[in-house]
Amino acid sequence: MIQELRIHVLTDQVINKIAAGEVVERPASVVKELVENSLDADASSVQIILQAGGRDLIEVIDDGSGMSPEEARLAIQRHATSKIESEEDLADLVTYGFRGEALPSIASVSRLTLETSEGEAEGIRIRVEGGRKSSEEPAARTRGTTVRVEHLFANVPARRKFLRTVQTEYRHALAAVNEAALARLDVAFRLIHEEREVYRVPAGEGLRERARTLFSGRSVEGSMTLASEAAGMRLRGLLGHPDAARRSSSGVHLFVNGRPVGHRGLAYALYTGYGELLGDGSYPFACLFLEVPAEAVDVNVHPAKREVRFRDEQAVKDFVITSVREVLSRELGARPLHLGAGGRSSGRTAGGTAPAGRTAERSEWHRDDLFKGLTEAAMRSAEGLFAVTAPESPLPGEAAEQAEGLPGSREGPTEEPSIWQVHDRYLLAPIKGGLLIVDQHAAHERVLYEEALAQLTGEAAVRQQLLFPRVLDLSAEQFALVEEIGPLLERVGFDVRAFGGHTVALEAVPPSLERAGREEEVFVTLLDDLEERGARGSGVQEKIAASLACHGAIRFGDRLRPEERRALVDKLFACERPQVCPHGRPTHMVLSLEELDRRFER
Ligand code: ADP
Ligand code: MG
Repeated sequence: MIQELRIHVLTDQVINKIAAGEVVERPASVVKELVENSLDADASSVQIILQAGGRDLIEVIDDGSGMSPEEARLAIQRHATSKIESEEDLADLVTYGFRGEALPSIASVSRLTLETSEGEAEGIRIRVEGGRKSSEEPAARTRGTTVRVEHLFANVPARRKFLRTVQTEYRHALAAVNEAALARLDVAFRLIHEEREVYRVPAGEGLRERARTLFSGRSVEGSMTLASEAAGMRLRGLLGHPDAARRSSSGVHLFVNGRPVGHRGLAYALYTGYGELLGDGSYPFACLFLEVPAEAVDVNVHPAKREVRFRDEQAVKDFVITSVREVLSRELGARPLHLGAGGRSSGRTAGGTAPAGRTAERSEWHRDDLFKGLTEAAMRSAEGLFAVTAPESPLPGEAAEQAEGLPGSREGPTEEPSIWQVHDRYLLAPIKGGLLIVDQHAAHERVLYEEALAQLTGEAAVRQQLLFPRVLDLSAEQFALVEEIGPLLERVGFDVRAFGGHTVALEAVPPSLERAGREEEVFVTLLDDLEERGARGSGVQEKIAASLACHGAIRFGDRLRPEERRALVDKLFACERPQVCPHGRPTHMVLSLEELDRRFER
C-alpha cells in the first residue's frame, strides 16, 4: 500500500498568510511597508490616507517610478522584488524593501487594489481579494502608484479581534509616517485621517523645521543640533533639552543608514550620553541618524526590518555616547564624560549614570537636607530615633501656632490642636495616645488617587475653572491620545478644548491640582505615562489616577498653610486605605505615648 504523502508544499496563499503574521501586525505595519515602497520607487511626494486608524482604509499615493503592467502582476506574487537579484546585493542594500513579501502578504489579509503607471503607456489596476487576484483593468493615471488596502484582517477574524481602538491604531500609524517623514527630508508628505489633514510637509525641509511640524513645540524648541564623525561613522540629529524630557520613550527616534530602527543598545547609549541630566524614568526627545558603512551592519534580521545588528556594537555605542556628551556639555555646560583609554570603556560604568547610581545619590542628599540646621549633638541623638525633630527655631509667623500645637497645651472642645509642618516635609499632630507623623507627599498622593478613582468610576466630577486657560502645543501623538481618552479626562476634571492643529487649551483641572500650580506639567506627564503604559483596558482608570496622584501631589519642600495641613490630614483619614500611598509606601506613623515614655526611661 502506498503511504499517504504527509509532507507537501504549501500553497502560495497559505505561505503568504503565514508571512503576513510576521510582516503585518497592525495597520501601522501596512503603512510602513507601503510608504517604504514609495520611497524605494524614488517618489518625491507621498500621500497617506487613513480611515478608522487604518482599520478600514489605508491608501498610499506616490509619484514614483510606477510599474509596467507585467511588473505590477509580478509585484503581488511572493518574493517578487525588483530590488535585489543575488545574495551579494543584500550586503549593500540601498533600498528599504528587499524581501519581496510585503505586497503579497498584505494582499492575503485584506482587499488590495494596486493602481500604477510608468507615465507613458496606459496604467493598470489590479484587485486582489484575500490573496486571489479578482480583477484587472487598464487605468488612466499619471506616473506613480496608488495602493489601497481595505478591511485589513477581514478574512482573519482572530487577527482583527486583536486590533485596538481606532485611536490607538491611528497613533501607531502616525508614528510610522512620522518616522518616514523624518528619514526623508527630501520628500514631501501629507497625512490625512478621517478626511482631516493631520499635516503636510514640503520636500527639502531642514530636520528642525520638519520636526517642528511633526512633534510638539516643547520638544523641538530647546533642542540642540548634533553632527559628528569618527572612524567611518557619522551621527547627526537633534537632542532635546533635558527640561523637555518625558516619561515615555516615544520621543526617541533612531535611524541607522536612513532606516528607522528600534535598538536597545543605541537607545541606551543615548541615555548614557545624557547621564545625570535625565531624571529617573525620564527620556529625552531625540532624533538620531547614524550612518555606518553598509558592511558594518546587518539589516536582514527580522522581516519587519526594524532590527539591525552591528558588527562592532561597542564601538558604535561609544561613538554615540561621546557625541551626545560633547553636544550637551557644549550647549549646557554639562561636565563632559571622558571614556576610558581608546574610548573602549563601557558606557555603563564610565559615567556612573545607571539609574541605580542616580537614586543613591538623591537619597543621600535628602538625608543631609533633613538634618540640616541641627547641632552636632542634636543630630547624634536624633539619629536612630526617628527622622523628625523639632525645628530649632520656629518658622516666621508660626511661633504662636507651635506653642499652641504642643501636645496638651490647650484642651477645649471647640479648639482643635494645630498641626506642625516640619522641614516642609512632615506634618506632626498630637493625637489621642501619642503623636501622628504624616508624610505630606505620600498622604496627598493617597488622597488624589482615591479622589480621581472615585470620579472615574462614576462620582460627579468636580472641576476648577482656570482663570487663564493654559494653551498647550501637543504633538500629533499626544493630541490623538487626548482624543482617545477624552471622556476619561473629562470625568476626572480636565476640560480640554481643541484649538486647531494640535493645540489645546486646558480650561479646567481637577481642583486638587490647582494647589500644586503645575497643571500643565501634570497633564502632559499624564499623557506621557499613558503613552508608555497603554491607554486602554481595564486598568486604565487606575493608571490615570496613579499618574495624577504621583505628579499632582504636593511635594517635599512645599510649604503648607495651617488650614491646608488640617485639610490634608482630614482627607487622608477619610480615605478608604489611608495607611499607604498608591505605591504601597506608608503615609503616616503614630508614635505612642508608651513609646515616648520608654525612650525617656520613665
Ligand atoms: P520589496 O519592497 O521587498 O521588494 P514588496 O512586496 O514591498 O517587496 O514590493 C514588491 C515589488 O513591487 C517591489 O520590489 C517593487 O518593484 C514593486 N513596487 C511596490 N510598490 C511600489 C511602488 N509604490 N512604486 C513602484 N514599484 C513598487
Ligand atoms: Mg517593500
